[in-house]
Amino acid sequence: MSGKERRGTMTSLVAGGAGFIGSHLCERLLAEGEAVVCVDNLVTGRRANVEPLLAHPAFTFVEHDVVDPLPPLPRVDRVFHLASPASPPAYLRHPIATLRTNSEGTRRLLELAARDGARFLYASTSEVYGDPLEHPQREEYRGNVNPIGPRAMYNEAKRFGEALTATFGRAHGVDVRIVRIFNTYGPRMDPEDGRVVTNFVTQALRGQPLTVFGDGSQTRSFQYIDDLIEGMTRLMAVDYRKPVNLGNPEEHTVLRFAHLVRDVTGSSSPIVFAPLAEDDPKLRRPDISLAEALLGWTAQVPLREGLARMVEYVHHAEGLP
Ligand code: NAD
Ligand code: UDP
Repeated sequence: MSGKERRGTMTSLVAGGAGFIGSHLCERLLAEGEAVVCVDNLVTGRRANVEPLLAHPAFTFVEHDVVDPLPPLPRVDRVFHLASPASPPAYLRHPIATLRTNSEGTRRLLELAARDGARFLYASTSEVYGDPLEHPQREEYRGNVNPIGPRAMYNEAKRFGEALTATFGRAHGVDVRIVRIFNTYGPRMDPEDGRVVTNFVTQALRGQPLTVFGDGSQTRSFQYIDDLIEGMTRLMAVDYRKPVNLGNPEEHTVLRFAHLVRDVTGSSSPIVFAPLAEDDPKLRRPDISLAEALLGWTAQVPLREGLARMVEYVHHAEGLP
């Protein structure tokens, strides 16, 4: 038995573990004394995100695409499926891979969970609500997704991933969890991923114009990474198989958010307006009463404080003085 297969240690597989959220989860699980097998094909993730973990005796990195048959793996107790391109520019660049990762990849990981009797968590998204007609969004809301629209490769893939997860729960007795993640930000996001937080912070720090799409009246609610990781680990520890929203209910228009980023960075970058993409949701805010009641959880980190940490991270990542 190698040092990485110590008897009695809980082992978690984190698919997508070299990504933004996944790397924070790996770190948290290791800190709790677990063994972690990180499976990632690095399509949008970065080796640098897990570089500091590679020397840890309980951490194993496997470069692999979860769409393909899984390589021989140790028996695992829990599977966290976070693998998927996540930013709109990334899933538009990899449309078929996004559909396959959330369908075929999800099936492979669910089969692994069934084989090992492992608990399984699927990282779904607020995008399953589409351009919502109900506000804020509760878990019971079934959404308003355009099945053939430009975001469909992501939204419908995630809806199918939820369906597959729920079905393996019912038909094969896999102990499943589904988390619907709302816009989350923090250190280790790829500064070039094209999401609004990374775009605005990098633009502000470089002294470039902040690009507001449309008139900036659309809203988002931004959650700091530490809050998400806390909620996900709590969800994995309770007995609840239906979807749970995790997000920060503080809602901002994108234009107001641009002003806030300028303020926090002390930047004098101008704000410019660019065309809004088709099917861009007009409103988004999670109803988190289920998570509050079930997990005793609520988002803790105020946006200003989280943004300050994000700014510090991008500052270093950009090599700015
Ligand atoms: P990310 O791009 O940083 O991480 C995703 C990781 O999955 C990357 O490391 C990527 O290389 C890996 N990956 C993608 N396809 C793969 C495949 N076929 N096989 C193996 N690895 C693969 O994005 P993130 O923000 O960390 O998102 C993680 C998960 O959370 C995704 O499933 C995403 O849909 C979901 N999510 C994120 C947010 C958010 O705001 N960050 C919101 C909702 C849902
Ligand atoms: N957005 C923007 N400027 C940018 C990037 C994004 O105005 O440079 C807007 C985008 O149109 C959307 C919101 O910010 O309304 C959030 O976009 P993001 O890509 O971060 O995630 P989404 O919530 O759309 O998946």
